[in-house]
Amino acid sequence: MNIALIAHDKKKSDMIGLAVRFKDVLKKHKIFATGTTGTLVMGETGLNIIRMKSGPLGGDQQIGAMIAANELDLIVFLRDPLTAQPHEPDVSALLRLCDVQNIPLATNLASADVMLRAVDRGELDWRKQVNPLYSAHDGEKA
Ligand code: PGA
Repeated sequence: MNIALIAHDKKKSDMIGLAVRFKDVLKKHKIFATGTTGTLVMGETGLNIIRMKSGPLGGDQQIGAMIAANELDLIVFLRDPLTAQPHEPDVSALLRLCDVQNIPLATNLASADVMLRAVDRGELDWRKQVNPLYSAHDGEKA
């Protein structure tokens, strides 16, 4: 699976905690993240993460482009609903694209927990049929 992680600043510690708890699951998959989130999670977990630009520089839009191409299988976007986010990524644009492509997106620790357990049980493996980064003859290409 191709999984993307994004966390607003006040939720970055929650994202690190989530990644630590699910490290054994996440290490079996290809993980993408916005710049700062990726750096922090990589530093705390040792996971290999493909880092996009930081949120203010368009990392969320890079992830959005992958969603538009149906190339991601799960998004965890831990958003902070209590703080105005003047320059930080807005979940609604990504959520809209996820709804176009039928990609699950978790916005808090509870839904992220459920979805990562589903990934671990192979319940999202159907995504391999629709994600163009997988192909029939050589398995996972990306
Ligand atoms: P970051 O992007 O991981 O680079 O901080 C997300 C955000 O800006 O909230």
